[in-house]
Amino acid sequence: MVDNNKYDMKFKVILVGDSGVGKTNITKSYITKSFDETSKNTIGLEIAFKHVEKEEHKIQIEIWDTSGQERFKAITNQYYKGANGAFVVYDITSEQTFKNVDNWLEDVRSNADNKNVPIILIGNKSDLAYNRNVQTDKGEDKARINQIPFLETSAHSLENIDKAFDQLIDEMYSKKIRELNPAKSFVNLEIAQDILKIDTPSKNEIEKKKCCQ
Ligand code: GDP
Ligand code: MG
Repeated sequence: MVDNNKYDMKFKVILVGDSGVGKTNITKSYITKSFDETSKNTIGLEIAFKHVEKEEHKIQIEIWDTSGQERFKAITNQYYKGANGAFVVYDITSEQTFKNVDNWLEDVRSNADNKNVPIILIGNKSDLAYNRNVQTDKGEDKARINQIPFLETSAHSLENIDKAFDQLIDEMYSKKIRELNPAKSFVNLEIAQDILKIDTPSKNEIEKKKCCQ
């Protein structure tokens, strides 16, 4: 069990996308593992917390909600500032929300001060497939062009909700470890070279063999 008061890493996660795509409900479903049938376009939830463990680290995930600011095109800089990871969300039943994905990607990349912030593209409301207006391959293409992962989720059936967060947490964690310990990859390289040295006869040994065979 993670002690909620003690953690040694903190990741800020933001969700952006048009109003009504399901950002608030994705967070709620992740935290509570259930869908609130009565939810309207939600206002209220500010920051949700989740605690996870990775290797020896206790991590606090802070999931920020826009609180509906996107409806008035008024997302504050404070929202993007310090974000360690982002979900860009559209609604698979709404072509318009998919068209706006490019703008949201641009907003995240230009406003998040964290360089190369990990982003995952989400096509939400996969439970409404009978009402689909954005084909899966369109989402896949957009993600490929932007070199980011892509998942279709449902805050309703919970499909891929945990997977989306797990994947983003993995990316944020790997990035953090690389930043904290840039030498790690070189250490591995040295070990690899040592192994090579053991297996490969030295020049002298080869010369010796040649001379005396
Ligand atoms: P936000 O404005 O992006 O935060 O969107 P909300 O989370 O407030 O959701 C907007 C509406 O879509 C609400 O009526 C939700 O109940 C509904 N909704 C959100 N996610 C899903 C989903 O995965 N499936 C279905 N069927 N409805 C959803
Ligand atoms: Mg909302």
